[in-house]
This record gives sequence, C-alpha cells and structure tokens, in this order.
Amino acid sequence: MEEFTDIINPFDYSVIERCENYSKGKVNDLIKISLKAYEKYSKVSPSDRGLMLRRFADLVDKHRLELAQLETLNVGKPISDSLEEISSVAEVFYYYSGAVDKHFGTTVPVSSGLDLTIYEPFGVVAAIVPWNFPALIASWKLAPALACGNTVILKPAEWTPLTALKLQDLALQAGFEKGVFQVATGVGNVTGAALAENEYVSKISFTGSTAVGKSIMKSAADNLKRVSLELGGKSASIVFSDADLMKATSAQPMSVFANCGQDCCARSRMLIEESVYDQVKELLINSTKSIVLGDPADKETQVGPLVSSVHKSRVSSFIDNLDKEVEIIYESEVPAGKGAYFPIILLETQSEDVAVVQEEIFGPVLTLLKFKDELDAIRLANATVYGLSGSIWTKDISKALRVAQGLKSGTLSVNSNSSVRTSTPFGGYKQSGIGSELGMEAMQTFSQKKNIFISTVD
Ligand code: NAD
Repeated sequence: MEEFTDIINPFDYSVIERCENYSKGKVNDLIKISLKAYEKYSKVSPSDRGLMLRRFADLVDKHRLELAQLETLNVGKPISDSLEEISSVAEVFYYYSGAVDKHFGTTVPVSSGLDLTIYEPFGVVAAIVPWNFPALIASWKLAPALACGNTVILKPAEWTPLTALKLQDLALQAGFEKGVFQVATGVGNVTGAALAENEYVSKISFTGSTAVGKSIMKSAADNLKRVSLELGGKSASIVFSDADLMKATSAQPMSVFANCGQDCCARSRMLIEESVYDQVKELLINSTKSIVLGDPADKETQVGPLVSSVHKSRVSSFIDNLDKEVEIIYESEVPAGKGAYFPIILLETQSEDVAVVQEEIFGPVLTLLKFKDELDAIRLANATVYGLSGSIWTKDISKALRVAQGLKSGTLSVNSNSSVRTSTPFGGYKQSGIGSELGMEAMQTFSQKKNIFISTVD
C-alpha cells in the first residue's frame, strides 16, 4: 500500500491534497485511543452531550461555505448542491442534539417487582462512508452515535476525505475530547478492513456498495459486531397514465442526474404505462435538455463531473457495452476541458435482464421501460436484487397505496422524488441494506437495550 493518496479535483484532475493511508497498526492505535476516550465520554451527562452536539451544529453552520467549497473541490459537486448538503449536515447535528434525552426505555408490568429497560452505548463505533455525499452521510452516523454516548472512528472514502478532516477539527472546537471522534484516512481493503476486523470495535455502520457491504458483514461475524448497512440501489419511478405527466417528467431528470447520477436513491429506471409511453418520452427528453452541465464552482451549474477518472471508466463501460436490445434516445454534450465529465444519457429497452436495467451504474444514465398495468408495474419495479427507493406517480391515492405496499423498497415517495428527511427513517430492503438511518430509529441502532428486574418481594 502507498503511504499517501493524492486527492484529486475531478473538475481538472489537479492534486489538491495528499492524505495518509492508515495502516492496520495505525488503525489499531486509533481504536485503543477510542476505547480510552469511551470510558470518560460514556459517563458525560445527556444534557452535556446534547450541548456539545449543538455547538458542533453551530460550527458546521458557521463554516458552511468553507465546507461546501471543500466538497465541491473534492467531489466535483455543483456548489449549490454542496451548500444545501452542508446545511443538512448542521440540521442533522441539531436534530440529534435534541434527541439525546428523548431516547429512553420503558417500565414493564411484571409480577413481584419492577422491570426496566434502559439504553446503553456500544463503545467504539466504526463509520465507513462512500464518496458521493461525504460530509452528509458521515453526519448520519456520527451525530446519532455520539448522541448515544459512543466514540466514533470515521473512515471516509479514499478519494474524498477533506470534509471529514475538517469535521474532526470542528468536533474538538465543539468540546468533544480528543479520541471521541477520530478520522482514519486510507484505502478500503486496508484501513476499512482493519476497522471491520478489530475485536474492540463493537458496531460498524457502513454505507457503500453491496459487494463491500457483504465483505464487511463477513469480517464482523468474528466478534459478532453489530452491523448496519446502507448499500446500492436501482430505484424505479413508476408513471401511471393518470399522473400529472408534466410534473412527473419535470421532476424525473434531477432525480437521477443530480450529483451526476452518483446517488444510491437515483431513480435510474423509469417505468411508464404503455398508453402514455410516447408522450412521457417526449416530455422527458425536453426537460432533460434544459439541464446545465458545467463548472461545479459556478452557481448556475446543475450537474458537474463524475468523482474521478476511474469511476468515469466504470460508467463508460456500461455505455460502450450496451446490449443490442437497448437504444440511446438522448445524449447531451459535455463541457470542454479535461475533467471527469460524462454526458447525460437516456436509454430505452423492453428487455428486463440487460445490465443497464439490473445493475447500479452510478452515473447520469436513465433507462425507460414500458409496463401494461398495475401488477406489471409492481413486478417490474421489484425485478432487481435491490430495494432502496422509488417513486409512484398517479392521482389515484388508493392505487398509490396499493403499489407502495407491493414494492419491496424501504423508502418510497408518491408524486415526488424525495428520499431523505432528517427526522424519518431511511433504509433498504433486499440487497440494499440492513437497518435504518436518520430519525429516532438511528438512536436505536447506535445503542443496546438492557433489561433490569427489581424484586419488590421481601
Ligand atoms: P465502496 O463500497 O467501494 O466504498 C465505500 C467505503 O468502504 C469507502 O470508504 C471504502 O474505502 C470502504 N471500503 C472499501 N473496501 C472495503 C473493505 N474491504 N473493508 C472495509 N471498507 C472498505 O462504495 P463507493 O464506491 O465509495 O460508493 C458507491 C456505493 O455506495 C454505491 O453502491 C451506492 O449505492 C452506495 N451508497 C449507498 C447509500 C445508501 O444510503 N444506501 C448512500 C450512498 C452510497
């Protein structure tokens, strides 16, 4: 393993930073520091934990522009998106600063005594995150884990560690003692694997690809670490003939092309009722044409480059090797320059088995398919190994509910593409993951329940 990774700006491939790749030995040292910090931090009162989280949120808010600029520089995200994401990071810390003393157990009526359930922290939590929303996804783990009294080691993706390092500084300023929150930079199969294997890590919260999620679960089995997994997706937007077609087709493009398609909730399959297929296709092509690709630092830009040249090659390979049953119906221009730009592409097919229908491309590519009726729509939407997100477009609320109940997906929206809200649970079915993030559910996933019986018999 190289000692350092060059951190590259995907807009122009310039080197913006060099980050250390933590070896297994160095990760083990961080875990020892984390265990020691846990002894003290787990005894901090809930109100003091809440206060520190609130100060952390205030600092994120104060440094919003700097954090957003770092994210844009490192990930190639349009600056308007980065600013919104950093506001959401602050919101997540505010939410869990208030959640600390609202997460409590129960008393259970039993014979001959009183029975209590209480929540306790796990100890050392490892949070392993991907590169598509580096600060935001880190906050989904960090804030509830700290709120519950755990100490945390965050492993950012090797390409995008810059906001994680800045958050580590802000945590110290917010009053968290050294060791309560640490960052381990480095590559997945060394730095990340060292966290997943270590017997003193009690809980691992992972967001990333399904393949790596499976390997983490295997490593975690050795000491029965608690595991939460937020994995890949191939979500469908289902458009019925009675939907507001203008609304559906205006919303659809940014539900898949935002963040250059690098979004686990991207609605990368659009399933359209056959009676309105041609009309929807035409409306969709028109609304897709208006998307502005450009320099991520420009506030008018809606779509920037992909995260790296390596990822660009991966996305390209899907288009270079298109099955013969798939047709390109629209392809945008890309901005001049040498960045990791990729065109926005619309595809259509009637084959359910092709790679672009089954696999997560994680790029700006949308595939259109026809369905016959409600049952066919549900069957088609469920016909992948994933089950993360999805949208249902119809004016018939009973139909919307029937379809929502039939879909094997964890996070759905009706007449909207919204997937994530700080106060509501977010998670996947099938190979899209295990467990939920956000909302009060996250407090459950970062704490363990203890039952205590007190005899009242003399
Ligand atoms: P990835 O799985 O390659 O890497 C994710 C993280 O795991 C990185 O920090 C990486 O260094 C680390 N890692 C890699 N190999 C490891 C190993 N053997 N042991 C421990 N850690 C290891 O994913 P990515 O390419 O960074 O992100 C894209 C994927 O993330 C997509 O599949 C996407 O759908 C998924 N994702 C899911 C959600 C969700 O909430 N469900 C959100 C965002 C991204």
